[in-house]
Amino acid sequence: MASQTPALPQSYSPGTDSVFSDQSGFYSLDSNVPGLSKVILNQLSMKDYGEYRAAVEGKTKGVLFRNYKEMFQKMEETFKFCAGCNKLSKHLAKGQTLKRCVKCLNVYYCTKDCQKTDWPHHKKVCEVLRLVAIDRLVEWLMFTGDLPFSTEKWSKTPADVKGWDDWLSMQEGLTQSLDKIISGGNMATLWKNVNRTRPDDDDLRQSLWRIQSEFLSRVLTVGMAVQHFGLDPYIKPLTVHLVGVSHNETMGARLTDFDELSHMFAEHQGIEIVMVGPEVVDGPIVRPPLRAFGPKHKVYISAYKGLYHQFWEDVVEKGDAAKPDVVVGFHPGFHANQGLVEGWLPTLLLLRDYNIPSFFTMYSEMELKYSYQILLELEIRIRDSGPSPFTSQKPEQVQACPNKPPVYCNSHYVCFQGLLPQEG
Ligand SMILES: [Zn+2]
Ligand SMILES: [Zn+2]
Repeated sequence: MASQTPALPQSYSPGTDSVFSDQSGFYSLDSNVPGLSKVILNQLSMKDYGEYRAAVEGKTKGVLFRNYKEMFQKMEETFKFCAGCNKLSKHLAKGQTLKRCVKCLNVYYCTKDCQKTDWPHHKKVCEVLRLVAIDRLVEWLMFTGDLPFSTEKWSKTPADVKGWDDWLSMQEGLTQSLDKIISGGNMATLWKNVNRTRPDDDDLRQSLWRIQSEFLSRVLTVGMAVQHFGLDPYIKPLTVHLVGVSHNETMGARLTDFDELSHMFAEHQGIEIVMVGPEVVDGPIVRPPLRAFGPKHKVYISAYKGLYHQFWEDVVEKGDAAKPDVVVGFHPGFHANQGLVEGWLPTLLLLRDYNIPSFFTMYSEMELKYSYQILLELEIRIRDSGPSPFTSQKPEQVQACPNKPPVYCNSHYVCFQGLLPQEG
């Protein structure tokens, strides 16, 4: 069987394609814009990635920023390089400054010439980058608690909710929720402290929805995985392991983050979510997993910092955590390079050999294609794959290559279980 599977693809070296979530991704920013990772560290007054990670995880002592203005300014600095020739501010001639594209307010240029030469490329993404520039500021409302806003009970069965339109049709209070945030104090604070004018309310409404959709996309992906494997949460409690969770997903995570599952499967027997990954950020969700069934009709979240196969050996095999009914991974990125494949290998083999229903998502069709081939190479039996109906609506800019088409979280999925049937 293995001989018939296509050869492992040459890595298409997407280092800079990926939104960085780990060390190699972080330094790969430099392969396109030499010195960009340094700019980020300098802006944050740190000396290396370890300090950056500690700050992100809230372990740094002292105050990082004196005020909101400074915080937003420093965040913006990390986007300041010429989108044409990749020059950073400090490499400009005396008196020269980087000027922002007035249409998107997202990318910068060192000279009019650079902007002119770049326009044929940039014009294809200028409008979507305008949205990204709004989102990266509005996203701050995830930290203030304005987002995510609360959602409503489902009036349809999970099988009848086939995509965002179906989901939105059940949210009668959506406009009201969005308008409440738009007229709120934190929204006012935000636009008072950034170096640009406040977009109109319609732009803000759409931006809030895009950010909320990214958050919900993860929860609905878990719901989709449960349905794909025909698991029935009305009959027995379910345990879902999330593998390779990143600092993005766990920073500021709350115990209620997966409550949408209780709207999706009303009156279920109890759903447990265990988030496992080396980048898990300390917080309320970091607590032991359940050993017995949890509360009915409720979602219980816990988290473990470490690699999944370690978690399996140290916790699951000792009986300190329930075995999973399904394992979900949000864009694991093992297609990106050999190092990451090797990092994921023990987990992928564990999932395969224990015949665990698994459901992974990707940022793009390209990522799906490469991941699919890696799974085949490992003789893993793939059940299904394709575009996801619950793709995040928020475009992700490739920070070091702003003119690359943006990608979307959970845009594609692959669903697999066990070993390929052997010919005999
Ligand atoms: Zn330039
Ligand atoms: Zn532009």
